[in-house]
Amino acid sequence: MRTHKATQCVHAGGHEDPHTRGDTTPLYTSSSFEYLDREDFPYPRAFNTPNQEAVVDKLCELEGAEDGLLFSSGMAAVSTATLSLVSPGEHVVMLDQLYGGTHAFATEEFTRMGIEYSFVDTDADAIVAAITPKTRLIMIESPTNPLLQILDVRRVAEAARERGILTLTDNTFASPVGQNPLALGVDVVAHSGTKYLGGHSDLCCGAVLSSRVLIERVRAMARNLGGSLNAITCYLLERSLKTLSLRFERQASNALAIARFLEDHPSVDAVNYPGLPGFRGHELARSQMSCFGAMLSFEIGRNASLSVPDFLHRLKLITPALSLGGIESLISCPAEVSHDRMSPEERHRVGITDSLIRLSVGIEHVDDLTADLGQALV
Ligand code: PLP
Repeated sequence: MRTHKATQCVHAGGHEDPHTRGDTTPLYTSSSFEYLDREDFPYPRAFNTPNQEAVVDKLCELEGAEDGLLFSSGMAAVSTATLSLVSPGEHVVMLDQLYGGTHAFATEEFTRMGIEYSFVDTDADAIVAAITPKTRLIMIESPTNPLLQILDVRRVAEAARERGILTLTDNTFASPVGQNPLALGVDVVAHSGTKYLGGHSDLCCGAVLSSRVLIERVRAMARNLGGSLNAITCYLLERSLKTLSLRFERQASNALAIARFLEDHPSVDAVNYPGLPGFRGHELARSQMSCFGAMLSFEIGRNASLSVPDFLHRLKLITPALSLGGIESLISCPAEVSHDRMSPEERHRVGITDSLIRLSVGIEHVDDLTADLGQALV
């Protein structure tokens, strides 16, 4: 019956309200539960309270996972999953375009922990070439941030599996509505729930989803590290997830219209959006995504009299702000904010110029969004 994402978003997971038979999952804020005559021992840091489980069940159905865990941030999810899958002396292959926080987690923590790592281009052949006998994990993202490059996820997952190596994908940009990496052969999916899952720029949370066996490994370390999610945020996240499909589809259709508008604009040099037929990764994205998503980036270098600060200051509706995935459109210059910890040379090497703009498209009326961009681009 629940064959479509829209239906799963509304009806999957959740817990019945045994007292009033209300429609929504009750909010159980207790951090202490009587233990006599029961086999489970709920405790928030054990990742097994009713509100945590109600959301995990919904996310499992949306991502096609057997089990999952909810965390207090996306980075708590990514870091805990990584550390539970890799040991000192082992090696991790990572895309050099992974989210900046994940990039920093590797460069600032791995060496001290005895974990080796290599950064590679967003390319399946480059990933395979970087594998060493010590490689235990491959960490990928597709589409990447902020260039929206598309990686052949099936090929990477297959090559890893043949060699007994695990794969972890951060699926934040695509959301479970846009892409299901487990169905493409990936072992573990992580999300920053702070973005599309929460969807209203008012929650901070994360999730890891996988097989029962791998989640047991992650859970063992997660209990020790303690980054679980509180009941109230779980409750709000469950409510947000009910509209994920609706929000994401509207955001994606707005994004396609805006990408087309920007493509034709004389002040715009290049537009990166997987839904544009002329975009380099378009066909690959079609084959592995069910929806192209709502993130795009573009260059405003062509019009020499238009500076990035002038453009951002002129916007009236779209907010220059960090983060993404909310119902309101947010814009940023990655070189100034999300990627400012990369050296200018490194940014240049991966293609992040000083005039690259990243746009997280919201659910506003698309005509108002293009009008705002149009008046700021002159
Ligand atoms: N992964 C991606 C792709 C992100 O964009 C972010 C945050 O921007 C994170 C992970 C980290 O999430 P959080 O800020 O919830 O820790």
